[in-house]
Amino acid sequence: MIFGDMELIPITDGTSWGDGGGAFGLVPKTVWDELLPSDSRNRIPMILRCLLVRTPQATILVETGMGDKVTPEIAEKQHMRLERPNGWLLDDLRRHDVAPDDVDIVLLTHLHGDHSGGGTRFLDGQIVPTFPRAHYLVQQREWRDAHNLNERTRATYFGINYDPIEKAGKLKLLDGDAAVIPGVRLVTAPGHTAGLQVVIFESGGQTAVFLGDLAFFHWQLERLAWVSAYDVDPLGSIETKRIWQPWLAEREALIIFQHDPLITAGKLVSREGRYKVETVAPAG
Ligand SMILES: [Zn+2]
Repeated sequence: MIFGDMELIPITDGTSWGDGGGAFGLVPKTVWDELLPSDSRNRIPMILRCLLVRTPQATILVETGMGDKVTPEIAEKQHMRLERPNGWLLDDLRRHDVAPDDVDIVLLTHLHGDHSGGGTRFLDGQIVPTFPRAHYLVQQREWRDAHNLNERTRATYFGINYDPIEKAGKLKLLDGDAAVIPGVRLVTAPGHTAGLQVVIFESGGQTAVFLGDLAFFHWQLERLAWVSAYDVDPLGSIETKRIWQPWLAEREALIIFQHDPLITAGKLVSREGRYKVETVAPAG
C-alpha cells in the first residue's frame, strides 16, 4: 500500500490456530463461532501479520511473528497449530526483496511470543537477533513486566525471544510515547499489557495505525466490551479503546489489524451511534 511518501506492506509469519475462547474472552462461543468458525479443537485462525515499512529514511519492520523457535511439535504442546504454507517471516520478507541486514528498525508493540518470537533466531547453535543491524524499540514498562513474571503472565513471555537483543546492544527502551523517524511514532495503549504500544504513520495529511493487540480482530475494535481473555487489564483495554475509537474515526485512519483473518486493513466509521469497520484491504 502506497501511503504518502511511505510504503506499508503487510507481511506474514503464518497463521497460528489458538483457542477461540482465549481470543474472545467473555463473548459466548455461540456468538463468536458464527463470525469465525473454530476447528474440531475449538481453535480459530490468528494471522501473524507484521508490517514492512519503506520510507526514504529507513526500512522498518513492525512485529516479528512467532519466529523459528516454535516448531510444530512445540506448538502442539501449547495447544496451537502453526500453519505456514509459504514459509515464515524471512521467506515473506525475501519475496519483497528484503534481507535481514536491510532492516534498520524493528518496532515491537509488546513482547508476547507471537509478536517478539521472530526477533531472534537460531544461527550456528546460538540464538541471535534476526535483524543484526536493527535497533529494536520496546516500552520500558513492557520490558520490566516481561522480566517479572507471575503465574498469569509466565506462559506468554519467553526471554529467548528478546534477551539476546539486549545482549547484542540493540535494544532501545522507551519511556512512553516516542517519535521513531519523521512520520512514524509510537503511542502507548495499555490494557492487553501495561506496556503495549501502537504504531502511527502520518504522511501527506493521512493517518495509518498498526493496532497490535489493542484489538485482535475488527469486531473487538467495533465493540468496547469485546476484550480478549489474554488482556492483563480488561477494563483498561475498554478505556483505551474508548479513546481510540473516535480518534481513528475522525481521521479516517487506515487501520491495520494484526491477527484478523478477514480484514488486513480497514477504516472505522460511526453510523447511528455505533462504530463499524469498513474493509479497505481484505485478508489474503
Ligand atoms: Zn499479545
